[in-house]
Amino acid sequence: MPVTSSIIDPIVGIDLGTTNSLVAFCDDAGPRILMDDAGHALLPSVVRFVEGAAAVVGHEARAHAVEYPVDTVYSAKRFMGRGFAEQGASIGGLPFAVVDGPRGLAAFAVGGAVVTPQEVAAHVLRALKAVAERRLEVEVRRAVITVPAYFDDAQRQATRDAARLAGIEAVRIVNEPTAAALAYGIGASERRRTSSETIVVYDFGGGTFDVSVLQLVPGGPDDGEFFQVLSAAGDTRLGGDDIDDAIIALVTGEIRAAFGTELEFPPAARQALRNFAERAKMTLSSAESATLEVSLGVDRNYRRVLGRAEFETIIAPLVDRTIAACRRAMRDAGAPEIDRVVLVGGSTRIPAVRSAVAAFFGREPYAALDPDQVVALGAAVQAAVLSGARRDLLLVDVVPLSLGIETVGGAVAKLVMRNASIPTRATEMFSTSVDGQVNVGIHVLQGERELVADCRSIARFDLRGIPPMPAGIPQIEVEFMVDANGILSVTAAERRSGRRATVQVIPTYGLTAADVDRMEADSFTHARDDMQRHRVVDLVATSRLDLKWICDALARVRDELDPAYLQSLESAIMSLKGHIAAAEHDARAVDANAFYQAKEALDRVSVRMHEVAITRSLRGESA
Ligand code: ADP
Ligand code: MG
Repeated sequence: MPVTSSIIDPIVGIDLGTTNSLVAFCDDAGPRILMDDAGHALLPSVVRFVEGAAAVVGHEARAHAVEYPVDTVYSAKRFMGRGFAEQGASIGGLPFAVVDGPRGLAAFAVGGAVVTPQEVAAHVLRALKAVAERRLEVEVRRAVITVPAYFDDAQRQATRDAARLAGIEAVRIVNEPTAAALAYGIGASERRRTSSETIVVYDFGGGTFDVSVLQLVPGGPDDGEFFQVLSAAGDTRLGGDDIDDAIIALVTGEIRAAFGTELEFPPAARQALRNFAERAKMTLSSAESATLEVSLGVDRNYRRVLGRAEFETIIAPLVDRTIAACRRAMRDAGAPEIDRVVLVGGSTRIPAVRSAVAAFFGREPYAALDPDQVVALGAAVQAAVLSGARRDLLLVDVVPLSLGIETVGGAVAKLVMRNASIPTRATEMFSTSVDGQVNVGIHVLQGERELVADCRSIARFDLRGIPPMPAGIPQIEVEFMVDANGILSVTAAERRSGRRATVQVIPTYGLTAADVDRMEADSFTHARDDMQRHRVVDLVATSRLDLKWICDALARVRDELDPAYLQSLESAIMSLKGHIAAAEHDARAVDANAFYQAKEALDRVSVRMHEVAITRSLRGESA
């Protein structure tokens, strides 16, 4: 999307993470991540310092960390504004040297120099600034930057200093959980900020776990803090890295058992193991199993399949620790009634983590936004509020455009109509269109028009594992639920098997008030045309089903029909097939009435054949 030239001196939102950092910007269409030229949303918070060379930041630094173990700094955020005595000694196992820096603060001895955590962060911020400038095509000098809720004044100040070093003014330092809530529109709409809502933000990242209980301050000022932190708990030594370590421990243990206990794993081998352990972990977030394969030279090939159930057993102790922290946070907050739970951090993509959170809090957590982007998106929302650019945003108390799903032939079945007040809920039954279909794709659409091509696609997901049944027999209930924050959950469930699948989306993301007006106006302009097309699409679907039944029966009883009748039946079939073919070529050019009549004619003429078929099957049964 081209950016309008009206952006002057923008304020971007930055998530300066322990593992990954991101930059986002919010305009009328809502917040969006600004990607680098290669299309990456995430910038690894990794910097390589080699004497006499420019610092290398991000993907490149991370990819070659193995080759430069002592000069590649990562996890620098853990040291921001911390004393060497306090922090340096306690973090072991880092390949680079942590030293006593200026003013007793922790620093790093890398590339032949002493580098402070602020300087490392400044390199990351500079890289993000460059990405933002490329995407927005203007100079970027101001940002809202997020920090963990538990950061003290010194750590917040260190973050500001890092920004200044990078040529960025940190117009505000915002708590990460607050940003996550803002990204979901919680607290961002003046109108809805009337009651006090209590939310839990569960943030499971790469190296740290944080859980915060926040309370929305009713009637809080538009540019001030919207939330009060009731409690924060967590574990600064618990993250996705520990999950990778658990897989590495499994693999190295088994390799030693198979090929000799004396086997050593040099740093390069460990890094390779780490990369592939992380890949396997990510695979298991969407697939049921992942293959672990390591070649250790001739005749030494290690290969095994890691199933999801086994993976879940391995990580259960880690997940339990996060839940224990949730329990502490809840207790410290005075065990309040919780209105929502928001998921943040890449590690919350793991299904077992999601279900543990859902079980503990007794509710489905918010997951409509990408968990590793949500903090940056929220920082951008806060930035827009501060720059006064947020007026036109679509934070509404009604559904601005109708919501529905794709049905056979590219038509849209609407479940929630525009202007329905939220929260709202609707269900409808659907079935399959092909015999033995075991997977059904659900395509969620937004808009007023009748056909998929003219609506806005907002989500797709699959309902899998339906037992094979003839077309039309499975009963698939699709439920749409839009909650008070405008977040849509779509659930599809097949009745007999109990199979379910669900997706969450925020339908107003990426939509401006002008878009809504245009889509509404379009629906009036095209109303007649659309209705005709929808009718034709429906006729194609029902005619196909009719033809299938008729042709199946005809194949069985053909020899019993008299030739004249057979001829009239076949010509009715040909005529209907002709209409279907024409409709598929161009639905607009078809005369729906003539089509309908052809379908009716076939229905009438086929009655006799059905009678013969039924008589025959009765004969067959009694024989
Ligand atoms: P941080 O906030 O610490 O900078 P992130 O929120 O970016 O970290 O989370 C990074 C962690 O998320 C890494 O450990 C990474 O392996 C993990 N992660 C990312 N995607 C997935 C996934 N699909 N399944 C499981 N873990 C994931
Ligand atoms: Mg994070």
